[in-house]
Amino acid sequence: MLTVTFYGGAGGVTGSKHLVEVNGKRTLLDCGTFQGLSDVRERNRVLPFRPETIDRVVLSHAHIDHCGMLLVLVKRGFAGPIFVTAATKEVVNYMLLDMVGIEAGDAEFRRKHKIGAPDEREPLFVEEDVAPVMEQFVEVPYVRESKEWYKIDDDTELKFYDAGHILGSAVSVLRFKSSDITMAYTGDLGQVGMPLLFDPEVPTEEVQFVICESTYGSRKHQPLQQALDRMADVMKQTCARGGKMIVPAFSLGRTQELVYWLHKMVDDKQIPRFPIYVDSPLATDLTEVYRHHRDDYDEESWTDFPRADDRPLAFSNLRYVTSRSESMSLNKKPGPFMVISASGMMSAGRVVHHLKHNLSDPNNVIFVTGYQAEGTLGRRILEGAKSVEIFGEQIRVKAQVELLNELSAHADRDQLQHYLERIKGLKQVALVHGEPHQAGDFRRQLQQAHPEWTVTRPEEGEVLEVS
Ligand SMILES: [Zn+2]
Repeated sequence: MLTVTFYGGAGGVTGSKHLVEVNGKRTLLDCGTFQGLSDVRERNRVLPFRPETIDRVVLSHAHIDHCGMLLVLVKRGFAGPIFVTAATKEVVNYMLLDMVGIEAGDAEFRRKHKIGAPDEREPLFVEEDVAPVMEQFVEVPYVRESKEWYKIDDDTELKFYDAGHILGSAVSVLRFKSSDITMAYTGDLGQVGMPLLFDPEVPTEEVQFVICESTYGSRKHQPLQQALDRMADVMKQTCARGGKMIVPAFSLGRTQELVYWLHKMVDDKQIPRFPIYVDSPLATDLTEVYRHHRDDYDEESWTDFPRADDRPLAFSNLRYVTSRSESMSLNKKPGPFMVISASGMMSAGRVVHHLKHNLSDPNNVIFVTGYQAEGTLGRRILEGAKSVEIFGEQIRVKAQVELLNELSAHADRDQLQHYLERIKGLKQVALVHGEPHQAGDFRRQLQQAHPEWTVTRPEEGEVLEVS
């Protein structure tokens, strides 16, 4: 028998932590940070299990809501291996260092304004906490590099399939010999046909139990090309009226995909050659990491940009901005131009400054290209707030807000269902990483189509037994 306790990323999308226990061994799937909600600081200070009782961690990918709490886990006594793909290992280092910087700023702000309890005014982790986490990483190749199982111990074996979500993302398949159960954890599952990345790979072995994400469990994306065409039209119109285009984007994944698409649109003369700024030091570093891992790019990336000097992530009217002064100078620069900047949910980072300066001008446009979790500034703008508070100031929202869900790095409900249907031997599915109505709708859809499966939607803290 196997039991799973869902400690986060259950009944919501952030804070993924799923603890699998088999034969006395405890395997933690992801150790992510809660984001967006008003009580995140308190929640991220508490680990719901004793770190020293965890035997190992299997990490699906490098987004902070899946890996951020590794810093706390290791600091408080976890000493086991953390299994990752090679690309994830390289990317996580940058992500954690970036998070340390945000945490330091946050703590300082709280100290200055005396917000929260005294211990909440101290940073939860500092730069010195990153290296010990990195030392515990153990690289496991993707199945396309090695078809062999990776032996964790006498009872447990692991395989990583490509999840097609961001560079390095993996679907983890775990085989437990003693209980004769093979299970999979999708992590975040990408869409078919995304640039640079391979499409999500389906495990070839029989898998009886899957923990499956459900971010867009009640949504059907329109075709990707349709969204890209709409984006091109809005860009042309905005250029014609001299407006500015602000694109909040995750530094990891979304930014590189946008650059890839924009490069193609410029080459195909679908959009004018206006200046594009990637204003994120982290995205700039991560774009370098993408360049190190060209083996992890799909076929299309090579055929779209066949010449070695025609790099998919660079072109003449695109500039990577790193310095703060250049970032600030964009506030005074007349349009048209585009700024791609983090964070993707508009909750922190340089994009917040760009929004503050540009939201109230109806000539401007905000492209929303990724999931906006409950409680974030992005969610409020998306839901049509007439004004929003930024750095203590009320800012009127008059800019055009364009939602492009189709560009999401997450599979929609039909793609998720199709993925599960291709898994042989499947009996039981637990839906995680979805707000209640997304996971709930998806559960009903799956249960209707497949009454032979047991589909559950565990709440946070719930324990599930699988036999
Ligand atoms: Zn993710």
